[in-house]
Amino acid sequence: MLDIHLVPLLADNYAYLIRDTESGKTAVVDPSVADGVVAELENRKWGLDYILNTHHHYDHVGGNLELKQRYDCKIVGFAGDRKRIPGLDIAVEIGQELEIGNSKAKILGAAGHTHGHILYWFPSSQALFSGDTLFSLGCGRLFEGTPEEMWKSLSALHALPGSTQVYCGHEYTADNAAFALTIDPNNHALLERCKEIDRLVRAGLPTIPSTLSSEWECNPFLRASDPAIRAQLNLASARDVTVFAEIRKRKDLF
Ligand code: ZN
Ligand code: FE
Repeated sequence: MLDIHLVPLLADNYAYLIRDTESGKTAVVDPSVADGVVAELENRKWGLDYILNTHHHYDHVGGNLELKQRYDCKIVGFAGDRKRIPGLDIAVEIGQELEIGNSKAKILGAAGHTHGHILYWFPSSQALFSGDTLFSLGCGRLFEGTPEEMWKSLSALHALPGSTQVYCGHEYTADNAAFALTIDPNNHALLERCKEIDRLVRAGLPTIPSTLSSEWECNPFLRASDPAIRAQLNLASARDVTVFAEIRKRKDLF
């Protein structure tokens, strides 16, 4: 099993400290900077064995080299992004398994936000580190990929259990919620989730993790086949990917 701790960094980034409880092996997912991660590790008197990067953007790899120097940890990232991930030691391929002590992660491909974006899924801990692919009530901007690629990446998550906890790269949930209501205003589950988000934000608490089942019910970017959303967008008979692309375009302008 994994112990998972959220570490807020920069304006709205989340890194995650994870520790395999049996072996004591530790990792940090997407450290944008080293400082906040070091403070958390020292607090817990933990070392650092691995850094797991979901993609090459600076706000996900910015702490790599400083942490590697300090802890002599191994940096894990997508093989295809070897040139873009600072200090990469363990180059992983899509579909491969990665072991953090006795905890096994499956590497999922998720092109769209960037070409080389990957997700780390720990089935036995029901944890998905989704980087900038899937946010709570949102999805990443299409910086490098096409709507087709992102739609395929998001749709592939239906193979995972609904109980999977989603640990994403940013606290964008309140803004995403406001946008989601413009796309899916009568979705009861979304309205309930919005109330919960409001309560968490007012209390100064993170809205993360959410669950995949909650995202399937509430996240408009996963719901392109929903009749009410299609009606709202006047795209009743369009392909799912066309509906998805329209939602993504509207969010870019929101
Ligand atoms: Zn990014
Ligand atoms: Fe990011």
